[in-house]
Amino acid sequence: MGSITLEKVSKSFGEAAVIPSIDLEIKDGEFVVFVGPSGCGKSTLLRLIAGLEDVTSGKIIIDGKDATDRAPAERGLAMVFQSYALYPHMSVRNNIAFPLKMAGVDKAEIDRKIADAARVLNLTDYLDRKPRQLSGGQRQRVAIGRAIVRQPSAFLFDEPLSNLDAALRVNMRLEISELHQQLKTTMIYVTHDQVEAMTMADKIVVLNRGNIEQVGSPLELYRNPRNLFVAGFIGSPKMNLLTGSAAKAFGAHTIGVRPEHMILSMDSGEWKGQVLVAEHLGADTYLHVDVDGIGSVTARGGGDFPAKAGDMVYLSVDKNRVHKFNEGGLAV
Ligand code: ADP
Ligand code: MG
Repeated sequence: MGSITLEKVSKSFGEAAVIPSIDLEIKDGEFVVFVGPSGCGKSTLLRLIAGLEDVTSGKIIIDGKDATDRAPAERGLAMVFQSYALYPHMSVRNNIAFPLKMAGVDKAEIDRKIADAARVLNLTDYLDRKPRQLSGGQRQRVAIGRAIVRQPSAFLFDEPLSNLDAALRVNMRLEISELHQQLKTTMIYVTHDQVEAMTMADKIVVLNRGNIEQVGSPLELYRNPRNLFVAGFIGSPKMNLLTGSAAKAFGAHTIGVRPEHMILSMDSGEWKGQVLVAEHLGADTYLHVDVDGIGSVTARGGGDFPAKAGDMVYLSVDKNRVHKFNEGGLAV
């Protein structure tokens, strides 16, 4: 079991209301990602759930029971941080065993749990090594192993992959997704990286200044962002957000068009502009175009789209995929 409900949870540090008031429901077995810019309160919210910070007001309900005043160790949750916090002088085996030894679990049971965790995390051959003899990805797996053996009702991850290089991050992302499919345990995963959120989450919670901007599946947020913040945050490269004459033509204050929903041509189209930068990625080409009377627009073309910097190109908008926003920034 691992359902978690937040009821009007708020947190202030002195005068600063970092989390004004949050209501949220996390179902047992869900993979939920908290995503938002640095400083928006993601870690604070996770620490409130873990019990590492006290709420200023509101309730935290875990598995149907009020856990607001319970100590961290009594919440049945396991936290994995960006810094692995491994004991350098202990072997991998002892690092993973540590919480079980502390809890007085007997030796045979500890050995069995370590073997299980090591198998799931591909650490079987590394159990006798010290942390310094491991790669960054392996160290992070040890930290996850230490969480797994406690059989928590939910895992809480705070930017666990931020210290890894780009290629390893992609690998570990897949491994954590696979781990979730095997264990089917609730996971709350904090990141500032919207690609991680899109690729891993069942449900994304977009945070901004301690408030929830929107909750939904990755594709719900991609297809129907409810405001300008979510529209600009989810999707890569970013959605083009245009005001002025471009928006007026659609009867909106602002329109949003994703680069992949622009139609590019060398010969004809609605808008004409000069290519400022052409990024040829192989599979795709991203053009940053200075469109006459509209300004800078990013558009995606096929991998063999021939434009280069300085060329004139034409762009048309796929009208079925235009997002319209009112003056208050809400989708209409
Ligand atoms: P995120 O994890 O999204 O980057 P945090 O939750 O760490 O953001 O921080 C949110 C805000 O709360 C920041 O403005 C931060 O400075 C502030 N904050 C976090 N912890 C404390 C603390 N212990 N005391 C005072 N302010 C804090
Ligand atoms: Mg943080």
